[in-house]
Amino acid sequence: MSKHIEALTPILDGIVRPQAERIDRDALFPADAVTALGDAGVLGLLSAPEVGGMGLGIRQAYEVVERIAHGCGSTAMVVTMHFCGAAVIERHGSEEARRQVAGGKLATLAFSEAGSRSHFWAPLSTAKSVTDGIALDAHKSWITSSHHAEQYVWSSQPVAADGFCTLWLVPRDTPGIEIGAGFDGLGLRGNDSTPCKATAATIPADHRLGEDGKGFDIMMETVLPLFNILNGACSVGLMDEATLRTREHVVGVRYEHLDNSLADLPTIRNTLARMRCKVDQSRALLEDTLDALESGSEEASLRVLQAKAVCNDSAGEVCDLAMRVCGGAAFRKDLAVERYFRDARAGMVMAPTSDVLYDFIGKAVCGMSLL
Ligand SMILES: Cc1cc2nc3c(=O)[nH]c(=O)nc-3n(C[C@H](O)[C@H](O)[C@H](O)COP(=O)(O)OP(=O)(O)OC[C@H]3O[C@@H](n4cnc5c(N)ncnc54)[C@H](O)[C@@H]3O)c2cc1C
Repeated sequence: MSKHIEALTPILDGIVRPQAERIDRDALFPADAVTALGDAGVLGLLSAPEVGGMGLGIRQAYEVVERIAHGCGSTAMVVTMHFCGAAVIERHGSEEARRQVAGGKLATLAFSEAGSRSHFWAPLSTAKSVTDGIALDAHKSWITSSHHAEQYVWSSQPVAADGFCTLWLVPRDTPGIEIGAGFDGLGLRGNDSTPCKATAATIPADHRLGEDGKGFDIMMETVLPLFNILNGACSVGLMDEATLRTREHVVGVRYEHLDNSLADLPTIRNTLARMRCKVDQSRALLEDTLDALESGSEEASLRVLQAKAVCNDSAGEVCDLAMRVCGGAAFRKDLAVERYFRDARAGMVMAPTSDVLYDFIGKAVCGMSLL
């Protein structure tokens, strides 16, 4: 067994699966899982061995996130946002910041803003040069793990350069950072995604990640491929588990007066077949996207756009079908199918949203520039 799966498996069995229902019901942050993942080195999966990390890549991160999503969507999303932040820090952060991530310090992305909403590439927030560093003013709209991540990878308008944006490493406890109240969402209820305001929150100037004005390039080169694959992995894990639970239900429950099971109904089998096909198509597309990225194929950029849209939308459809096939039993919490249904709604509205991705894919197909 590879080292990341060996480190992950006992945490899945001992913490993630047993706690998933309570995390959803009480909107609890999956703190035990995050601590265990940090201690086992899984949060340092993308960090280089020279700073104490596992030195693995996007494919292994995908394998981790998909497995977690089978058990708990909230934990999978927290780990997804961590890996995205971690990748930027690994490539552009100081050695100390890289060591902290490798050692299990939780990271996240603070891109979305109240003013530009899902158009994360266009921050309205500002960064000004002041005597003791850089003063940030912002109204961030969603930050996963906002009360628990120790460092945010944060976007702002450039200080002086041209360009869409600049990225910064912002410690959560920076004076001037005001984190909103807890998350009460439809799904992913443990992901602690809240708004956050910054009022003259001052960080050292050397907390800049990459060059001034080059944040958009980092978003496109480092964050987008990783985020789209991992967000897609969340969707695949959720819909696969919903399909497995649906199969168990339809094979197991009986119409005693007819002496048969739900699986004896052709319409039920037909729907289950369509669910299975969507799961397998989505996973195949994700794996094709990973192959394209690893081989440097010309198709890689298009695949990255397609992978998230297809996986997110398929997860919505598959979990909707799971609710229908499992009938009233799914409407209650007994089967947990409704948790997967609710969790699966998030991916498609997380930026880049499915609609924006289809717009980008259409432009790419027509040979037009994306923005
Ligand atoms: C559970 C969860 C966790 C999140 N975590 C984070 C996080 O850690 N960090 C972070 O930065 N953000 C995070 N987000 C925010 C997310 O990435 C999006 O920015 C946010 O969901 C967008 O919501 P909105 O209401 O602002 O969308 P809006 O921008 O208001 O969009 C509304 C609708 O319009 C559509 N639309 C918008 N523009 C276009 C277009 N050009 N073409 C076609 N359709 C369009 C959208 O697809 C959507 O359906 C999170 C969101 C969720 C739900």
